[in-house]
Amino acid sequence: MTSVHSVLIKDLSLNFGSISVLKNLNIEVADGEFLVLLGPSGCGKSTLLNCIAGLLDISDGQIFIKGKNVTWEEPKDRGIGMVFQSYALYPQMTVEKNLSFGLRVAGLPAAEIQKRIAHAAEILQIGPLLNRKPAELSGGQRQRVAIGRALVRDVDVFLFDEPLSNLDAKLRSELRVEIKRLHHKLANTMIYVTHDQIEALTLADRIAVMKGGLIQQLDDPLTIYNRPRNLFVASFIGSPA
Ligand code: ADP
Ligand code: MG
Repeated sequence: MTSVHSVLIKDLSLNFGSISVLKNLNIEVADGEFLVLLGPSGCGKSTLLNCIAGLLDISDGQIFIKGKNVTWEEPKDRGIGMVFQSYALYPQMTVEKNLSFGLRVAGLPAAEIQKRIAHAAEILQIGPLLNRKPAELSGGQRQRVAIGRALVRDVDVFLFDEPLSNLDAKLRSELRVEIKRLHHKLANTMIYVTHDQIEALTLADRIAVMKGGLIQQLDDPLTIYNRPRNLFVASFIGSPA
């Protein structure tokens, strides 16, 4: 039953000490779906994403990816790729090395590594940048490389944590289009954290609106916008009418 879902979150809770940050969350993400986690700062979006990635141990519940219980799996064994707000590139390495590093550590053959880098470079249009260092790139170019690092790993699920929030408005809308294009092309599952309503409405198949570690509403963008379930959702994203 779980295999029809790309990501299944069951009764997930997370406490930091005595503070309950995520409260019994249940989310089913369909295969190939673009799910946006939307909510104000501090509502638990990054914490939830980090739980899915395996970067935080959860206090209660279970996480399944592609039907497999990964609750206690290492991050590297979960079939996920993560793109953060800060680019998290290795400053001393060229773009090509940044892309290939994890693959070399994993022991992939050189020819396969080259193939994957060429594929990512083409999709993300970063071919001309492969020999540059991160310091020689613009913010938008760095973020493309960061996405490329997830892409070359050939993962089932992409996790994005506010990848565009350090960029100016023009670049943000350009990369929004880029990410949408990437999703259409790859057709894999994406879970995307943002506090930006426009980003959520334009990217998402469905939006989970969060507040205080709880999901207030999980619906497609039009439903959220036109029929917000409560005052919080209405004031945060809903139609002004
Ligand atoms: P968001 O990404 O939605 O802005 P976070 O997931 O970063 O929110 O944080 C959710 C809540 O958990 C916040 O109240 C934050 O202060 C708290 N929190 C996050 N990380 C820790 C931590 N390591 N220890 C204690 N509290 C934390
Ligand atoms: Mg955050």
